[in-house]
Amino acid sequence: MTFTLINPSTGVAFQEVSRATVDEVDAAIARAVQAQRSWAALPPVARADALRAFARAVEDHVEELAALEVRNSGHPISSARWEASHVAQVLNFYAGAPERLSGQQIPVAGGLDVTFHEPYGVVGIIVPWNFPMTIASWGFAPALAAGNAVVLKPAELTPLTALRLGELALAAGLPDGVFQVVTGQGSVVGERFVSHPGVRKVVFTGSTSVGIGVAAGCAAALKPVTLELGGKSANVVFADADLEKAAAAAPGAVFDNAGQDCCARSRILVERSVLDRFMELLEPAVAAWRVGDPSLDETEMGPLISAGHRDTVSSFLDGADVAFRGSAPGGDGFWFAPTVVLAAPGDRIAQEEIFGPVVAVLPFDDEADAIRLANDTAYGLAGSVWTENLGRAVRVTRGVKSGVLSVNSHSSVRYWTPFGGMKASGLGRELGPDAAEHFTETKNVFFATDAS
Ligand code: NAD
Repeated sequence: MTFTLINPSTGVAFQEVSRATVDEVDAAIARAVQAQRSWAALPPVARADALRAFARAVEDHVEELAALEVRNSGHPISSARWEASHVAQVLNFYAGAPERLSGQQIPVAGGLDVTFHEPYGVVGIIVPWNFPMTIASWGFAPALAAGNAVVLKPAELTPLTALRLGELALAAGLPDGVFQVVTGQGSVVGERFVSHPGVRKVVFTGSTSVGIGVAAGCAAALKPVTLELGGKSANVVFADADLEKAAAAAPGAVFDNAGQDCCARSRILVERSVLDRFMELLEPAVAAWRVGDPSLDETEMGPLISAGHRDTVSSFLDGADVAFRGSAPGGDGFWFAPTVVLAAPGDRIAQEEIFGPVVAVLPFDDEADAIRLANDTAYGLAGSVWTENLGRAVRVTRGVKSGVLSVNSHSSVRYWTPFGGMKASGLGRELGPDAAEHFTETKNVFFATDAS
């Protein structure tokens, strides 16, 4: 059995990829269990060297990986190059972790007490289709650094870069079985990662609804799970902000990756007194957003991932108060023009994750109102605050229940800082200085030293 991959820019099928059966998943997990023991037993410097070699292999194949992502996912080539380079950077960063994963010596009476950070064993990583390479690396790089083996399940629609990373890892010298990529359905491969006793930790990135089921399965199997889920992040623009800068940044904050970004600032909250001025500035910025052939260097936004997803995104515009739209090419690709709508807080378009290039604009009256509106969804992943008032920036960022916030910026991801969501956006954190430790269990050993 296979999946047919379709190029989102052309709508043309171009490759078949196999769907693993439960027996094949079990065989991969058995190989991982076997390989993990010797991987964990390597001196830390040897694991570090192997990860650096893997990083170099990725660096040497940035163009190839980027071209695969353009074809498979429709990402603009400039973004896809950044994504592939980011994978190498994440590997290099966590290559520093094996030699830093030290425990503690704790003062106790009658002996010596020492803690060890021990790997879980096999980690199952389940990733979505929106950033296939980068999100996978946030899990596998620190997990491998900590001495775990990894089985990675890419999304059905976007397996190609994950498969290539698996080949590059082997070619770079990672021992066979330490890093495996298993393609297939979530309900088969993903569910088996959750239920199989050989997988000792699960990392899931995807929708909140599927994540809740994964968490329930992990609870039943008593295994830890990290959940990186959906978002409906707010871009809060105060009257005292540099409005030109805020408006110029707003399209990138939501239309990057065609809005198929968990951190998309898909609600713009604007202080009522500057709403008209802000909309005047936003309209030309949206019109200038370059949507088109993802293989061209100048393209800022490609197509949506599939025809079905385009139908879902379109459904959000039924009855919506569209303020203005950008442009999109015609043809058989899954194109969708960037769209700005005016919305009220309770509207579906202001509450649900759309995961497409649609942004809802809502006015607010004062600082308290801005915080209340920013928190007025089930999600809590990212967000931005635009203001020239430092005290206000501190108060608002402390008041918004989101895991990743930025002031006068829409930056969300730096691999050396923690990333993750609050509320329905997830549990646990990836990236940052502590991520490798999150792939370990602490063991405490007491050595009696009394002579008697
Ligand atoms: P999805 O939940 O449909 O699928 C995600 C992954 O889970 C896929 O690999 C899928 O095959 C697998 N899966 C499906 N059913 C499963 C099951 N029963 N058991 C185990 N695995 C299963 O999500 P998607 O449509 O691929 O991705 C979009 C979603 O991902 C959006 O909600 C987006 O916000 C979220 N996302 C979150 C982050 C984050 O870091 N918080 C990052 C990227 C995407």
